[in-house]
Parts: sequence; structure tokens; C-alpha cells
Amino acid sequence: MKTIFRNFRLIDSTQDTVGTVLVTDCGTIGAVITDTQAKLPDVYRIFDGGGRLVLSPAFVDMHTHLRDPGFPEKETLESAALAAAAGGFGTLVCMANTKPVIDNLALAQLLKQRSDVLGIIDLYPAMALTHALEGQELSGITESLPDTIRLLSEDGKDIYDDALFLAALQAASRADKMVSCHCEAGGESAAVARAITLGKKAGCRIHIAHVSTQAAVATIRREKSKPDARLSCEISPHHCALTQKDARKLGAETFGLVAPPLRTEDDRRAIKEGLCDGTINVIATDHAPHTSSDKEAGSPGFTGLETAFAVCNTVLVRENHISPQKLSDSMSAEPARLLGFSDRGRLASGLYADLVVLDPEQQRTVNPALFYSRGKNTPFAGRTWYGVVLLTMHRGRIVYES
Ligand SMILES: [Zn+2]
Repeated sequence: MKTIFRNFRLIDSTQDTVGTVLVTDCGTIGAVITDTQAKLPDVYRIFDGGGRLVLSPAFVDMHTHLRDPGFPEKETLESAALAAAAGGFGTLVCMANTKPVIDNLALAQLLKQRSDVLGIIDLYPAMALTHALEGQELSGITESLPDTIRLLSEDGKDIYDDALFLAALQAASRADKMVSCHCEAGGESAAVARAITLGKKAGCRIHIAHVSTQAAVATIRREKSKPDARLSCEISPHHCALTQKDARKLGAETFGLVAPPLRTEDDRRAIKEGLCDGTINVIATDHAPHTSSDKEAGSPGFTGLETAFAVCNTVLVRENHISPQKLSDSMSAEPARLLGFSDRGRLASGLYADLVVLDPEQQRTVNPALFYSRGKNTPFAGRTWYGVVLLTMHRGRIVYES
């Protein structure tokens, strides 16, 4: 179905201008028009942004925990896809810590096929580095892994054995896949340095997941300034917005528990500075849905897909740390680029019509009862943020409307 978004504030990594976007019936962006006098074609469906509402490329999340297969009480592929659409996301990379663990291509392909049938988002499973995430022997990393696998990760766990970690990174390098590293063992900064050192030795692209400390930001900044750096990293919305004070209020060992933990105000400032100066590439949710009883029992993580934009828009854009374009870059263009997608992440003719309509000025109070995600474990319940997702389009089809 042909659609036209007329008179929107078009924001992506390269522009912030009022204009019009045409969507073709094949689900791609047909044209981006910034000439307000341009004659527009007859179309079936028209949305008018009143010159105020924002049209951006849908978000790309490099770090989601789907819990499917294996933990339907926490989340299913279906509930996660709906939550993603409600949060403005078009593409997710999901982590391998399911039951069974996604440690081979067949399981990854099955999950992707199930997601493709739903047609709500585009899913790319990350494959584990070791068999069953046990840290004992390598998983099914082969040189011929197809593009279904964009990322390899042992997320949630560090591989303690240096020789095995190096072997995993060498296998990833031969397969030309990036590795996302959860770095906590021995302290975040030391673990980051270790991943970078072994990554260099293996000739492997390293992506540091959920950077949360001042020291780790400094280490990454130093490493990225070197000419041969093949290094990227992400931060999470909750580390941008919250500190250990919030964790204590929520229950440091229960509802405020996340890995890596919420840190100090200095750490929070450092990751925001890292985002501003380009040290940090990407904002990723680390969406980690849990049941209430699992949180009571100390399961780490927060549900995050449905609050990511509002939280980042409020604490990063409205508090003048970054521009709206930079936020779009961190949530869409840059993760798309790192994952090797040239077909999404910006507003440009020929790309997929994976789009999101946003009202950055509208305030809304977080009510987890209204989440599509089965995980109601948000640290933001009852808090009010600026920014509402009004509509999400996936491949030219509306998959969410508020
Ligand atoms: Zn992690």
C-alpha cells in the first residue's frame, strides 16, 4: 500500500528538516522530499505531521534478550516483537541465552523463520561462542556462516579461559563476524582491555556490550584512537538514566539488579560524555524481561524495549547532551552500519520503509501494566518521560499505532 508522510520533521543521522516521505507498495522508501512546494502523487493513505511530529528510521537494537525458546513466562517471540514495534524498533539482535541455547545455525535459522512469519520486526539471532554457553568448547562457528548471523556473543557470561576465548575470536574472525563481549569478570575495565587485546590478536572485530564505567570508557577511548582499531561499543538507556542510588531504592539485589550494575553519578556522566565525543557508538536496550518472582529471587536485568526512546530522548536530547540526529544515529544508523545493513537505518530513497513516528514533546508516565512485553520489570515505573512512539512501520506495513 502506498503511504505518504507529509509535513513531518524528518530526523535521521544526517538531517533534521521538515519534509515528506513517500513509501512504495513494495515496502521501501520511494522518495524523501524537502521541497514543500513539490507536487505529490495521488496515494492511498496520508499522514500529516503538522510540521512538528518526527519521522525517523525505525530503531535497530543490537542487544535484546527474547527468552524464546524456553522461558515463555518471561517473554515470547510474539510478545517481544509487539513490544519492539511499540518501542519503535524495526530490527533486533537477540542474545543466545535461551533454552536451548542458540549455539548453532539451525536453531538461529528456526528462530528467524518464526519471526519472519510474524512479520512484525526483523530478527537476527546472535550465536553463542561456546557450546550451551558453558565456556568449555566452541559452538558451531564455521567459516561459511550466512548473514542470518550478524553477531556472535556469549552475552551474560565472560569466557574465563584465555585460550578458549582467543580460539572463539579467531573462529569469529575467519567467519568475518563481529563479537559482542559482556565484560564483567575481574572488573569491567580489565575485562574490556582483555577482550580488546585478544580481539586484536585474533584479528576480530570486537563490540563491547553495555559499557557502564568511567574507566571502561577511558580504555575504549584510548584504544579507538589507535589507527588499527576494530572496536565499537554500546551503552544502555538505564545506565544513562539511573545510578546505584536508584538501584538501592528499587532493591539492589532484586528489582534494581542488572548486569552490569547501575553505577555512580561519575560513571553515568562518563558514558554520556563518551556518547557525545564518539567513543560510544550505539545505544542498545539489553532488554531483559523477567517475571516478578524471578526478580524477587535476584534475576538481573530490566525490560527495556518500550521505554528506550522516551528515556534517551529525555536524559540525552532534552538535557542537551546530544542532538536528535545523534540520537537517531546511535539508535538506528550506527547499529545498522555495524551489523552490515546498508538497507536501513536512515531516511533515504531505496531503503526499507522501516519507520517510526515520534512525538518528542509529549509526556507519558510509564505504566508496566500496559507493556506488550511480558516482562514488567522496568526500573522506570511511575516515572514520566518526554517522547512517545505514535506509529511504527515495518517494510511499509503499520505494525504499531498508539
Ligand atoms: Zn550482557
